[in-house]
Amino acid sequence: MSLTAERLDRVSPSQTIAISSKARALKAAGRDIISLSAGEPDFDTPVNIKAAAIRAIEAGETKYTDVAGTLALRQAVAAKFKRDSNLDYTPSEVMISTGGKQVIFNAMVATLNAGDEVIIPSPCWVSYPDIVALADGAPVIVPCSQNSGFKLRPEDLEAAITPKTKWLMLNSPSNPSGAAYTAAELRALAEVLLRHPHVWVMTDDIYEKLVYDDFEFTTIAQVEPGLKARTLTVNGCSKAYAMTGWRIGFCGGPASLIKAMDKLQSQSTSNTSSISQAAAVEALNGPQEFLREMTAVYRERRDLVVSMLNTAPGINCHKPEGAFYVFPAIHGCIGKTSRSGIAITDDESFVTALLDEEGVAAVHGSAFMYPGHFRVSYATDTESLRKACERIKHFCDGLK
Ligand code: PLP
Repeated sequence: MSLTAERLDRVSPSQTIAISSKARALKAAGRDIISLSAGEPDFDTPVNIKAAAIRAIEAGETKYTDVAGTLALRQAVAAKFKRDSNLDYTPSEVMISTGGKQVIFNAMVATLNAGDEVIIPSPCWVSYPDIVALADGAPVIVPCSQNSGFKLRPEDLEAAITPKTKWLMLNSPSNPSGAAYTAAELRALAEVLLRHPHVWVMTDDIYEKLVYDDFEFTTIAQVEPGLKARTLTVNGCSKAYAMTGWRIGFCGGPASLIKAMDKLQSQSTSNTSSISQAAAVEALNGPQEFLREMTAVYRERRDLVVSMLNTAPGINCHKPEGAFYVFPAIHGCIGKTSRSGIAITDDESFVTALLDEEGVAAVHGSAFMYPGHFRVSYATDTESLRKACERIKHFCDGLK
């Protein structure tokens, strides 16, 4: 009898984590490796947030909290939703989990029955299809072309909806494409959803604060209040406040859904760390200047990476609205052979050869359900980025 459960056969280990680990191992073995594969800010958590955590420890805030999170943090989250998106959620419509990942996991496990369909526009974050599969659901991947900015078009949404559709998963700005939906684009999707009242919307807004130029972030329940009663608005502290290790994700949604997710969390992790929760109150309620400085740095890096990658033969790099990723097309490289004789037959052989020959780690598009591309994370220092882009160009120059 097999040790592992059948449900585990439906999921694959995170490929982004696998590539980061391979890059780390090569580095440890003495190779000069630049990793563009990380999904986390290279900034440190701001000092005022760290200080709040230290104060919480010293004040003895080291016990269990309510499963859904402390009232202080749920109030801070409700105030954040109101301030940023004019969304009214009461503390009982808010829940805190161990990262945005657990919020999404809770929502899917609490609501999906076997065979329920979840529409996932691709390219998508690696974990969405696997979380849906773990929860017995059926991921329905809808590819979104580079010509439409990697964004879901209303006609493609309409075509993907069936009587079995339970959720649409939106992610704006997106990991891996950086694409963010304008209010007008969200409105067009909302019009489709209003015609299908059985479909719920999970919007993962975890990169909300990372948008550039004059882009104005909006979220679907704000654009169409008529959808709020079937929308779960997901967010967290990991990306905006450089707090990936603190494990704070949160959401706002109808009380019935939050109650179901709370029930599930009560029998898995219970509350996330009480200390992290105290730090998150400071992140949300405290000074926000850090965000301006951080986004200015990211915007410069995005512009640098897009312009440098577009000089590499065979690469076509779109300029996205947000997050800290670009998702260049490599169609012009496929079918060629690298300097050391590796045949570039697809995006996976492209990133493997790039790591072996040039010491640059990036993630292949297939990991995000979107072959023919690769993801570059620019959450790394500017000098390393410049060097990495030069190496990518050198690699592409050598393809025959
Ligand atoms: N959603 C997206 C699109 C992400 O890229 C990530 C992390 O990489 C998460 C959610 C989860 O972040 P966390 O669990 O750290 O809050």
